[in-house]
Amino acid sequence: MSVEASGPTRSTCPYCGVGCGVLATRNDDGNVSIAGDPDHPANYGRLCSKGAALGETFDLEGRLLRPLIDGKPAPWDRALDMVAERFTQAIETHGPDSVAFYLSGQLLTEDYYVANKLMKGFVGSANIDTNSRLCMASSVAGHRRAFGADTVPGTYADLELANLIVLVGSNLAWCHPVLYQRIVAARTRRPQMKLVVIDPRRTETASAADLHLKIAPDGDVALFLGLLAHLGKTGSFSDDYIRRSVGGLDEALASACAHDLEDISTRTGLSHRDLQQFYELFATTERVVTVYSQGVNQSVSGTDKVNAIINCHLATGRIGRAGMGPFSVTGQPNAMGGREVGGLSNMLAAHMQIECATDRDRVQRFWASPTIATRPGLKAVDLFDAVADGRIRALWIMGTNPAVSMPDADAVKAAIANCPFTVVSDAMTDTDTVRLADIRLPSLTWGEKDGTVTNSERRISRQRTVLPTPGLARADWWQMTQIARRMGFVEAFDYEGPADIFREHAALSAFENAGERDFDIGACARITTSEYDAMRPFQWPAPDVIAPTRQTRFFGDGRFYTSDGRACAVAVTAPPGATAPDRLLRVNTGRIRDQWHTMTRTGKAPRLNAHIAEPFCEIHPADAAFRDISPAQIVKLSNERGEILIRALITDRVRRGEVFVPMHWNDQFANRARIGTLIEALADPVSGQPALKAGLATLSRV
Ligand code: SF4
Repeated sequence: MSVEASGPTRSTCPYCGVGCGVLATRNDDGNVSIAGDPDHPANYGRLCSKGAALGETFDLEGRLLRPLIDGKPAPWDRALDMVAERFTQAIETHGPDSVAFYLSGQLLTEDYYVANKLMKGFVGSANIDTNSRLCMASSVAGHRRAFGADTVPGTYADLELANLIVLVGSNLAWCHPVLYQRIVAARTRRPQMKLVVIDPRRTETASAADLHLKIAPDGDVALFLGLLAHLGKTGSFSDDYIRRSVGGLDEALASACAHDLEDISTRTGLSHRDLQQFYELFATTERVVTVYSQGVNQSVSGTDKVNAIINCHLATGRIGRAGMGPFSVTGQPNAMGGREVGGLSNMLAAHMQIECATDRDRVQRFWASPTIATRPGLKAVDLFDAVADGRIRALWIMGTNPAVSMPDADAVKAAIANCPFTVVSDAMTDTDTVRLADIRLPSLTWGEKDGTVTNSERRISRQRTVLPTPGLARADWWQMTQIARRMGFVEAFDYEGPADIFREHAALSAFENAGERDFDIGACARITTSEYDAMRPFQWPAPDVIAPTRQTRFFGDGRFYTSDGRACAVAVTAPPGATAPDRLLRVNTGRIRDQWHTMTRTGKAPRLNAHIAEPFCEIHPADAAFRDISPAQIVKLSNERGEILIRALITDRVRRGEVFVPMHWNDQFANRARIGTLIEALADPVSGQPALKAGLATLSRV
């Protein structure tokens, strides 16, 4: 398709879950200028450094522009025939559960929908998981336990209306910068707004807080149990609200009251004074929003942390009203869209439950599919274990780099390399994962592809084509459709474009749904292709009409998606303190301001690389002195899984006994700096989300 130079195209940033609107203008010289979309309700014209540098990331260097079989160019038909044949062979010989898809929060909702439909309804397995499992699976599980559905109650506007914002495990200033800018602007307008940051590191965000609680790793459950007990003791519960709308609070409170302040102090590493200050601030402020991100989710107690937070909002009735509520912010541009179409191995499409026979029957009838997966499939960590031990015989990875991003990354790399048949669809030709594939399929990337994404406040927004299709690259939904047809499912995958897929997805959300499910965008089932092309950002639910300006908030009526309509306060228990054994340091991982994931896109922009040019290890001065480590020295972090070499950054931003290493660098950008190689593949037992912030390693001079 040829795209001529023209006025700006409205699209959505491909990076974090804020989901900012972007105006992309293709200039006469072929370059693309980027500006924030002043009319987009997520950002009102703002962009962060990553979004603003998008125009510097379009060059075709390193792009995969034609299919490759065993590293050699091949026509599309031959590559597709081979993929369909090998998947069909595996299914016929070893059964449907011998194949798996591993997808990405970078995919568009339409891509996710087709993949989920093919795997669950036509292959008959639920072995379809995604890197969103690494991002927000604990929030999904916590929402489902508390609300009966995976629903984010509030909107971004609630953060501007709050009088207290509590950020838990979130360096919002670097990881969701535009949302942080909105908070900063609101604090300037209303200086009475307070900010509490709960984080083991003194991050950029923590430095701006009224109160920074430098909590011990995984001390969050204990902290919020202590808060619930304090709210109970000080008469801060909303008794009327609890009577009408909350079940299970007695058990949750009993669990909380099992800990006195001294015990909470020991488990969190926080002083009585800091604890009291936080608890009193929360108890006496009606408008509180608690925002949580990867420091909460990426933990073996991630789901319990989410519920410990939600319990405090339920007990005080601070949910579903202006300026209050628990708020999960997702890391990826379409982590939420993937959830909407069931792109996790334990979900069905349209937020229906795979464990529910009625839901399975409803989805199967809608799809007119020959089968339907009857039980949850493998979650990310288990999925790659199954690849390693030979249960998975054919694997298709799309738009993600698990050889870098998964815990125990070297083991994942070896598993993929030894899988009998691996397909990778990617825009790049040579990532750590792509180079392991038997077949590489060239995908479109941001600016070339077309579809929808959903941000952290449930806002569905369009990504649109700005540039011509390079080489023989094709959309991910198209690739899967071609495979489905070759597997014999022609009619069910007869889509001509993303608008067809979106209409079907919307129709499924409303199918036999008399208001009992939260996710309903039935109005979109009736839109024409030109209306889809012109679609303005809007929030779900939208059962009757697409209303771009309406801000939707859930649970204002005190009704939830549980069987009795009441929310569930979950009785959680505090895990034992997470102290590292002798001589080992606890390894925290996370993002830096100007890079994204494994850098395949942001690594192309010189000004983003200029922010922090190389991988580093934040080390407390006492830990550095003990090991005779000097500033900027190259140091070794190692354990039984491997070792990495990185530059020492000696700082009291981290707690003693803990180090921080960014997650981005990989073999493409820095030799031996993949931090994922050192992280044990432990996961939350409820959500399956890996504990990516809980590594243990030895630190030494080189
Ligand atoms: Fe993109 Fe997130 Fe930055 Fe917005 S805040 S421009 S969505 S990276």
